[in-house]
Formats: sequence, structure tokens, C-alpha cells
Amino acid sequence: MPHKVSFVRDLEELPLSAEEKERLRPVAEKYPFFCSSYYLRLINFKDPADPLRRVVVPEEGELESWGRVDPSNEANYTVMEGVQHKYDSTVLVLASDRCAALCRYCFRKRLFLRGSERRPERLRNLRELVRYLEGHPEVSNVIFSGGDALMLSTSRIKELLEAVIHIPHIRYIRFGSRLFSYWPERILNDPQLLELFRRYSRPGKRLYVVTHFDHPRELTAEARKACDLLLRAGVHLLNQCPLIRGVNDHPVVLAELFRELAGLGVSPYYVFQCRPTLGNRPYAVPIEEGYTIFEKARGMVSGVAKRVRFVMSHALGKLEIAALTRETVIFKFHRAARNTDTGKVLVYARHPEAYWLDDYSELVEEVPLEGDLPQAM
Ligand code: SF4
Repeated sequence: MPHKVSFVRDLEELPLSAEEKERLRPVAEKYPFFCSSYYLRLINFKDPADPLRRVVVPEEGELESWGRVDPSNEANYTVMEGVQHKYDSTVLVLASDRCAALCRYCFRKRLFLRGSERRPERLRNLRELVRYLEGHPEVSNVIFSGGDALMLSTSRIKELLEAVIHIPHIRYIRFGSRLFSYWPERILNDPQLLELFRRYSRPGKRLYVVTHFDHPRELTAEARKACDLLLRAGVHLLNQCPLIRGVNDHPVVLAELFRELAGLGVSPYYVFQCRPTLGNRPYAVPIEEGYTIFEKARGMVSGVAKRVRFVMSHALGKLEIAALTRETVIFKFHRAARNTDTGKVLVYARHPEAYWLDDYSELVEEVPLEGDLPQAM
């Protein structure tokens, strides 16, 4: 990697008052703080409610006892270290256990905890992954994620790509990365990475990069240029982000994000319900409130920018929060861990304080998809 990222790892280096640093120290001891210098420069430290500050600077409410270490039960779908196979057609690889900053609401913060609580899950055995994929012809796509897949060296990214792209039934490959927000220079200063993507992103074997922009202010000139370089290299770009209290929990902010992304050629793809992960209490927005914010934002943009879905990555599958009625909330399986749940609709009595499917207790109706599912070809 030609240019190294410069990190700040100590709260002492932030322009906070001595009293604030004192208050936040126990939080950072439990959930570490680290952030690229680039991203810190985007923060207005004079504003305690600055949305970008909320993204990376610890907050006392994180110490509230709330959430679980693995709320989507990823352990259940782990087929070898760093490899998850939850949906028939997709294999998810935790290729890296590093990021260029720690989002306070990270749903995989188990990767970043200190001491015995840390679970540094990542792919260890590439050959074993290839054997697994070769033995599973139903898998049409692979996601390299983490952590941040683009924190890997370009030579490691090449090794991963070349190992899986030649498997005949793999039709497309995704890389999940928040570097466009935290460290766009990684893309701007590495022509070899762009050349690698240009070489391999082909009809029938398309490469996708899934960016993670949470707020329009993250779309700096550098970030926009990094996206454009990848688009020109023939890579498709999609954006996913969680809905976070104090960051993007406003329809105007979210609509601006969707609009700007669409203008750049980055398709807004998923907005996630914030997972009930340890320490995430200050960042979570209840499901029904989140749905209303999201729908208002979608109402402000055109069809191109509103293909985005509001989803919850639950252990059972990816559930779209599809609609609210006066009395009920309607979920639809967008992806199902068990094929029998494909397309199923779940209708629950409303519960404005619910943060996760498990908080709903009154199932009003469960409607499976009619008829048998066709066999995968
Ligand atoms: S970029 Fe993703 S994996 Fe990295 S800290 Fe943020 S949420 Fe966690």
C-alpha cells in the first residue's frame, strides 16, 4: 500500500475539554477509539452535536447495559474462520479485521474490543475458501468484507480476487469498504488498485464496491473523486449505511445523501436498522420511527435514488421494514436464511419502542409466499 493512513488513537489528542476527556475515558477503555486524521479534520468540534463527531467520538451512553456482542448471530452461519454462508447464493468473507476508524455503532465491534473480549475473526485459509466455493455451485457471488476489505494491501486484494474470480459459477464479487469516508487517499494514491479492478471487472464477472457513507458531509471532494475513479475503472458502486441517532436520523439529511450519491453514480442500496450491538444504545432509532424518517426521505427523491430499502439484518434473514398501518408493522423477507421463509410477510402489532424484531410480541399474521419455490438453476 503506497501511502499509510495516519491514525489518532488517544482521546488526549482531540480538541475536547479536560472534563470531557475525563468523562469519556472509561468509554474508550471499553470500546476503543481510533480514527483517521483525515476524518477528524471533517468534524466541527465546536458543535457537541456535530453528526460526524457522533460517528467516531465516544459517548457516555455506550456504557449503558444494552445489546449483544453478535446481534445477527453471525456465529451460527460461520462455516470456517472468517467465512459465513447464510443465504444460498452468497458467501460473505471477513477478509480484514481492520478499519480506518471505529464507527461507534459498529455491529462487528467484537473484532475491535480489547483483551480477552476481542474476537479477531478473519479469513485464514484462502485455499480452504476456494475448495468450499468450488463445492457449492449454488453460490453465485462473494462479498469480501470485514472490517474493511480495502484496508488490505493491493497484493492481498489481487490474491483474493484471482483465487475466486475463475470459479465458473461466481458471477460477481463485492468489496465492502468505508475507506471512501475515512481514508479516500487510499484509493486516490494507488493506481495499481485501480488497474487491478479495471482488469477484472468484466461483463459476466462484474466487480462491485459497496461504500458506506452515513452523512452527506462525508462526500468530500476526495471521496467523490475516489468514487469516480472506481466507476471509470468499470466497478459498480452501491452504498449502504445504518440509520443512526444524531447522524442521519432526519429525512432531509437522508434525502440529500441519496440524491448526492445517485448524482455520483453510487446507487443507494440499503439503509440498515441499527443493530442492538453492545454499546449501541445512544445510536439506535426505534424501528417505526426509523421507517417514517426513511419513507419521508424516499419521498423527496426520484426513482433512481429511491431503490434503496430499509432493512434489518436479523438472524432469520434480511427483513425489509415494508410498511406501517395504524395498528401494524409489516416486515417482508428480502433474503431468508431458511428457504421456506423466502418472500414471507410478517405482520406485528405496532410497538413504537421496538428496536429489533425480537421486541415485537404480538404476531398478527404470517403470510408465506404462495406455491413452491423453483429449484435454483
Ligand atoms: S466501517 Fe464497518 S466494520 Fe468498520 S468500524 Fe465501521 S461499521 Fe464497523
